[in-house]
Amino acid sequence: MVSLSSQFPAAYSAAIDEAILRYNSANLQLHFTRVANDAASDLPVKYSADLGPGVLGQSGGFPSSAGNPAPGFTLVPNVINSTNTNYIGTIMAHEMGHCIGMRHTDYYNRQYSCGGGKSNEGASTVGAILIPGTPSLAEPNSWMLACVGSGVNRPFTANDLTALNYIY
Ligand SMILES: [Zn+2]
Repeated sequence: MVSLSSQFPAAYSAAIDEAILRYNSANLQLHFTRVANDAASDLPVKYSADLGPGVLGQSGGFPSSAGNPAPGFTLVPNVINSTNTNYIGTIMAHEMGHCIGMRHTDYYNRQYSCGGGKSNEGASTVGAILIPGTPSLAEPNSWMLACVGSGVNRPFTANDLTALNYIY
């Protein structure tokens, strides 16, 4: 159950519908449903006016040991600074990916998508498990690359779909 804070500009409503559609079109056993009320949601999308310079949003983390999704994520429209449905939908689908257990495909070298000066995440405390049938190195356009350029649309690639179908 996904909900969107009423504080978001109108473009975010179309974007969360797009993000949900991408997952639900992938024929997974996992199905997202949008609900109006945060109280009925286990994946709320929360609004923030400011999380610091250049910060687009904040992940809610990874799933619990019981298999429940991380409790949503936060986005900062003032920094995202766009009304592009596919771009915002790409950011949302990425954050939803974290909530259901996805690491960055370039976790071992964030420079791949973020450019110079960015550190590597390594396995971190939650691990980073290669999904059978997917490449061990990052590929262009994966929705789980660490960074995304302004306005870029990243619908699921064939390998993204392999990963999602393997887990869900
Ligand atoms: Zn991320």
